[in-house]
Amino acid sequence: MRYVERLPDPPGEAALAGSFAHRVLELLMQRDSHERTVEVAKVIARGEWPGIEADPDFQALGFDEAGGKHFRWKAWQAIEGLWALEDPKAVEVRATEHDVEADLGGVPFRGIVDRLDEEGDRLVVTDYKSGKAPSARFRRGRLDQVLLYAAAVEQATGEMPVHARLLYLGQRPVGIQVTREEIDSVVGKLAGTWAAINTACDTDEFEPRTGPLCGWCPYVDRCPEGTKEVAKRQAKKEAAAMYGGD
Ligand code: SF4
Repeated sequence: MRYVERLPDPPGEAALAGSFAHRVLELLMQRDSHERTVEVAKVIARGEWPGIEADPDFQALGFDEAGGKHFRWKAWQAIEGLWALEDPKAVEVRATEHDVEADLGGVPFRGIVDRLDEEGDRLVVTDYKSGKAPSARFRRGRLDQVLLYAAAVEQATGEMPVHARLLYLGQRPVGIQVTREEIDSVVGKLAGTWAAINTACDTDEFEPRTGPLCGWCPYVDRCPEGTKEVAKRQAKKEAAAMYGGD
């Protein structure tokens, strides 16, 4: 819907709060290590806030005073959540918001790495997440993004990062040791997805893949299969509530 039909992505509160948290942490981690304190983060957040308030996406959310305060509080929870995961003063930062472009297995790839850290003389790819940390079952799949960043960093610098991690702010880190096998596997998966996208574009057939996330999809009203899926799940939930089954 977003990339093929070019339909606008409706602004989301969580995405905007996440962008605000990312921006504050980016500016914080650009400071000298001794300045990376909660107090400095508060000063940065106050300085960035007028920009968020003026953002058309923020205005489209139509918050009243209490809603705006709640949004600000949620975003601050994410920012402050960094200290639950690491001591920012102890991090050796090589770059923030690092733009990477590469050809990965024949696929044109571009990404922005939130942070490229150094552990001794080795590189670590770090990405912040302000959403809910995945359960054990879904953890590995979420790491594909940072493994692809690691592959792109290696291509650009000649150095293979030793570790790639997601910092779920205020919750926990989810990371993986970067190996040649992991990189080959994730690049192979990317090439497979790229081939499937190209086939879909050539044939103009885009098979909907319904599932539990349809309930959160901003395009569900335009998608008959997704609408059916949501109704089916809702009916199942209601039946379970009524009869006490699954
Ligand atoms: S409603 Fe579900 S199947 Fe339809 S576009 Fe959204 S996620 Fe895909």
